[in-house]
Amino acid sequence: MPELPEVETVVRGMRQKIEGAKLKKVTLRREGLRYPFPPSLGKLKNVKVTSIERRAKFAIMHLDNGLSVLFHLGMSGRILFPEGSEPLQKHDHLSFYFEDETGHPIELRMSDPRRFGVVDVCPTATLQTSKHLMTQGPEPFGDEFTADYLYKTLKKRSLPVKQAIMTNKVVVGVGNIYANEALFMSGITPRRKASAISKQRVAELHSNIVKVLKDAIKSGGTSLKDYVQTDGTLGYFQHNFKVYGRAGKPCPVCETEIQKIVQGGRASYFCPTCQK
Ligand SMILES: [Zn+2]
Repeated sequence: MPELPEVETVVRGMRQKIEGAKLKKVTLRREGLRYPFPPSLGKLKNVKVTSIERRAKFAIMHLDNGLSVLFHLGMSGRILFPEGSEPLQKHDHLSFYFEDETGHPIELRMSDPRRFGVVDVCPTATLQTSKHLMTQGPEPFGDEFTADYLYKTLKKRSLPVKQAIMTNKVVVGVGNIYANEALFMSGITPRRKASAISKQRVAELHSNIVKVLKDAIKSGGTSLKDYVQTDGTLGYFQHNFKVYGRAGKPCPVCETEIQKIVQGGRASYFCPTCQK
């Protein structure tokens, strides 16, 4: 599943390719993905892309007609910029056709085999209060997400810390992989009650959450399946995880066997010696 670093990578790729370009036409090859496409989507034409941004796991394309297009990749969505006349694949459900300043055509294609993705159109002015963004918590790289904020927020939660930091209301974009890794780096067991962690340890956790996400973005996003970058090349962003997916293997610090438990339906990996 694409996590925040993958979406950030996609957004950066989109920015390079289509910021300032003119959207000429949208072709929809089915009624919708997770939800039906809005009627306005297929009618977009001759509008300029003013900017591209990310909010939570949405890539957002702002247009100069007061509308914004939101993309969510769901479980298996990919955004590609096929070169030339790349034949359509079975799961290429929609295409946006652009023209850059020099008149060069650019196609943005979204493929999504499992169809949990979302493509929607919202007025830019009310985007933050749209149903997609209204319930999202602070961004991990934003001003609101400070060590103090995290401490105060976790204080109010009796959930295990791993589930708490994966809660969108607490902070967006900390998926299962990054939650496991950040807790290992902080020496905190995923089972510890969120409200029972000292201020100093929460400060460490805060900086490790930011670090693990930034590192993943630097390495081009991390995904367990093959992943297509926006330039159309196939990449395998398998990261060297310290604990994630390493049950039964030695801890990179103390060589104790990494253990696996299930919390809230998600796998947690940790070192019982290093993480308390
Ligand atoms: Zn260890």
